Amino acid sequence: MQGLHKYLSCDGDKMISLTINDKKIEAAPGKTVLEAALEAGIYIPNLCYCPDLPPIGACRLCIVEIEGARGFPAACTTAVREAMVVRTDTPKLKALRQNIMWLTLSGYPGEPEKSSQLKKVADYIGIKEMLPGFVPRPANIPPLLNEPFFVRDLDKCILCGRCVKMCGEVRKTGAIGLVNRGIKTIVGTGRGTPLKDAGCKFCLACVEVCPSGALYDKEKIEEKDREKKLLPCVHGCPAGINIARYVRLIAAGRFQDALEVIREKVPFPLVLGYACNHPCEEACRRGKLNNPISIKALKRFVADRDTGRWRAKLAIAPDTGKKAAVVGSGPGGLTAAWYLRLAGHAVTVFEAQSEPGGMLRAAIPAYRLPRNVLKKEIGEIERVGVKIRTNTAIKSLDELFKQGFGAVFVATGAPAGIKLGVPGEDDPRVLDGISFLNAVSYGRKTGLEGEVLIVGGGNVAMDVARTALRVGAKKAVILYRRTREEMPALREEVAEALAEGVKIRFLTAACGISAGKWKLNVECVRMKLGEPDSSGRRRPVPIEGNNIVIKADRIIAAIGQKPDAPAEFGLAADNKGNIQADAQTLACSRPGVFAGGDAVSGPASIIEAIQAGRKAAASIDKYLGGKGEINRKFLPEDEAYPSLGREEDFCYRERSEVPVIPVSRRRHNFKLVERAFGEKTAVAEAKRCLRCELRLKISKAPLPPTGQCDNCPT
Ligand code: SF4
Ligand code: SF4
Repeated sequence: MQGLHKYLSCDGDKMISLTINDKKIEAAPGKTVLEAALEAGIYIPNLCYCPDLPPIGACRLCIVEIEGARGFPAACTTAVREAMVVRTDTPKLKALRQNIMWLTLSGYPGEPEKSSQLKKVADYIGIKEMLPGFVPRPANIPPLLNEPFFVRDLDKCILCGRCVKMCGEVRKTGAIGLVNRGIKTIVGTGRGTPLKDAGCKFCLACVEVCPSGALYDKEKIEEKDREKKLLPCVHGCPAGINIARYVRLIAAGRFQDALEVIREKVPFPLVLGYACNHPCEEACRRGKLNNPISIKALKRFVADRDTGRWRAKLAIAPDTGKKAAVVGSGPGGLTAAWYLRLAGHAVTVFEAQSEPGGMLRAAIPAYRLPRNVLKKEIGEIERVGVKIRTNTAIKSLDELFKQGFGAVFVATGAPAGIKLGVPGEDDPRVLDGISFLNAVSYGRKTGLEGEVLIVGGGNVAMDVARTALRVGAKKAVILYRRTREEMPALREEVAEALAEGVKIRFLTAACGISAGKWKLNVECVRMKLGEPDSSGRRRPVPIEGNNIVIKADRIIAAIGQKPDAPAEFGLAADNKGNIQADAQTLACSRPGVFAGGDAVSGPASIIEAIQAGRKAAASIDKYLGGKGEINRKFLPEDEAYPSLGREEDFCYRERSEVPVIPVSRRRHNFKLVERAFGEKTAVAEAKRCLRCELRLKISKAPLPPTGQCDNCPT
């Protein structure tokens, strides 16, 4: 309970002794009788009281008798006094409360929701005993259903005033108030303006404190899903980065603090700031108001400004004398290596290629993730003592155990391209997307020229097409068997590909390849969309007798990848070649071996690989004798200031999109396409955040005790 005494006068620090229901208790000066009683485990019925609000005194349910005082003062507005003698449970009080509750409910349509505080308090007071034939009045104010996020069903409002106080005095937005007079009083906005125009910031504190069910979320939220649903950005991030917190810190101009919050969960803030597929933005609640916060761009903004302050706070545990090996230097492998090293283990990462980075280097073109950025971040991992041995392909895990490694993390990714499965694809002019990107990344000649057909609809297909145009193709055409709506590629990647001249033929699938005199003839079948499949996307269905032939100089299949961990590792795998590992611990079929990331799940995202690396580090640390605690705390918890303030245009502020360099300056080179936010833009973007975390910090109202107790008047 968060002391209402801050709202009341306070006469010193000496504790005050008083008696409530014959029980002697002590309370801090300035506390109210209600607070003192609740802290002593004595429940007094109440509805307008909320621990985070100044006293309201509207519902009158918390009336008490005080020796020497006239009438029935409300416990929520009466300060404790030395030697005060209070009774909360006399027959007179019980009868009065029943009358008050009868009046409250007489305007209420139907039975209050079972889970509402109103219902629980009404049951506790025993309203049924007094009003056996009570027939509630039917509703006559239609619920307001068309506002974002929540419904206002004002017939159910008991005018407790909590929402209005919360909005005006705690959040200081003043979007809602008590409007009209007398029996027509309702909770509303001035002249019935829509909430968006009334200064509402949709923090939903009003919904959280409403005891009567008059204000409720449009989406039903189960208690077990509360955190997930109310703070969707954090739960949308596979690594659980505290997005709400770092966005708030950016809004406050605390950029190094924001970076430290990100570094508490991942060792790759820069890489993620440049190349994350940002599932958090899909989840962001602001997206339901107009468009989501540019979370990825904000991450890049602070990561680009890294002063290295966090390094002084980085604690590396004393050497444990244990050794761990990581096979594969992609984001998952390096993340595991980072946390295992911080836990005090000696860590060696083995990489078959000449440079570390795995898929970050091989599959993400430099125009999206500059190599110096990757190098800088991998450099930080080496700086703490992780050893990376490149040009070292591991063929046998036994060898590693013989070398004294106590545990191995297999993070070999999913580097093998999947074939199209159509006749004629063995022609040497048919390539696979991931090998093509890999060749370009490592500076090998691809001999690409003329017209290139790319098959696929994901981010790899976009990268292949855009890269093809950069390394010599005259034309790059993507064949995709569904429509743009079903494309798994990120919206911005598709837009940039189109801007650079990539063409996309939707509802078209390659079904056969044959060699013509000069070019390849690609027979394609036209498709239409049928019923949704298991992925929820509508299934492409061939249109018979509608085939076309497209000529091309090269075909590149970008329809997916699969793992290819050596069979000599002796690890159980499924029929797709995915290594089998325990979902929680990532432990494999061999003791001491753990596997995660794309090698287990098939191709996924950078941030999912990082999360697998975090999981693996925790499990391996435990396996090696540690506690498996990998999270790092750089920044002490600070209170998120509950005030939001009023800003008239808040709801209408549009998202700042990431600026890009002109197409003419990038079409034939690997210059970085996306520019960074400037400080003013970043702070303004961060200030668009709805501060969803604040709702979770609101204290719960005290509910009547369940079961019988000494204080129960019924
Ligand atoms: S809407 Fe809910 S919180 Fe607001 S005054 Fe009515 S009952 Fe109280
Ligand atoms: S509005 Fe802010 S806190 Fe809410 S989901 Fe989006 S980024 Fe997270």
